[in-house]
Amino acid sequence: MNFNFTKYKTKENKKIAIIAIIIAIIAGGSEYQYYSLIIKIDDNNKKIASTTTEFEVRIKSLEDGVIGVKNDNKTLSDVVQSKTSSYDAQIGNIAGTVGSLDKLSKTDPQLIEKYSKVFFLNEHYSPSTLATITPEFLLNEEARLQFHASAYPFLLKLLQSAKNDKIELKVISAYRSFGKQSSLKKSYNFIYGAGTANQFSADQGYSEHQLGTTIDFTTPEVGSSFNNFEKTEAYDWLLNNAYKYGFILSYPEKNTYYEFEPWHWRFVGVDLAQKLEREHMTFYNTDQRELDKYLLLIFN
Ligand SMILES: [Zn+2]
Repeated sequence: MNFNFTKYKTKENKKIAIIAIIIAIIAGGSEYQYYSLIIKIDDNNKKIASTTTEFEVRIKSLEDGVIGVKNDNKTLSDVVQSKTSSYDAQIGNIAGTVGSLDKLSKTDPQLIEKYSKVFFLNEHYSPSTLATITPEFLLNEEARLQFHASAYPFLLKLLQSAKNDKIELKVISAYRSFGKQSSLKKSYNFIYGAGTANQFSADQGYSEHQLGTTIDFTTPEVGSSFNNFEKTEAYDWLLNNAYKYGFILSYPEKNTYYEFEPWHWRFVGVDLAQKLEREHMTFYNTDQRELDKYLLLIFN
């Protein structure tokens, strides 16, 4: 048998070599592809990881941004709020000032003025509104006496309070017009003669009665003569209580300006009356500029 081993061997080897090469190519190719795939996956993973990190960083930065914006908004809203309340306060202040000015412009400055024989109200002056005093408190219930309408509630409180304290306090004179004052003076002149009339009738309280805020008090016992009114319980009561209702004694005992008139009381407002009481001052001893400060408060 002619067996060409070498030839066979070579042929087989060739086959094997070819297969091996094919296998190697396939295997090698696969392996290459596998590794390249692994690398690609790894690369992608790395990319994903770095992208994720990048996203995380960006999310964090966005979150920080949102927080920042929120904080900015909060700050802005605080600023707006504080500005708004500051404006509100300013508007409130302005409104208050305007209100005070308006009130002041509507309050008659004459009501807090000091009068004398040389400085007095003119004959055309009359109170803005007048109220009729309830007859219950009049010495003569038939008389129709009037008082400044804005001061009248204070007068009523005073009279009611005196009544509650069992003090018999009566009104004998209140608002007197210029004309009424003139005719009253004339009748005093007629009855007592000009000399006596000038002495007690009172040029001194003339303007104060024309204001409508002044009252002459008496008691049923003393009547219209005013004799010894200063010795009555009623006068004592007035000295201790009238200021609480805004009334002051215009011409107190031993004052250096005018004759003593214990019956003649003028409404100047509770604030001013209390201040004068506290400081042991009289209306006519007080500087006019000081008195003027109380005009705004007169009907408080
Ligand atoms: Zn009087």
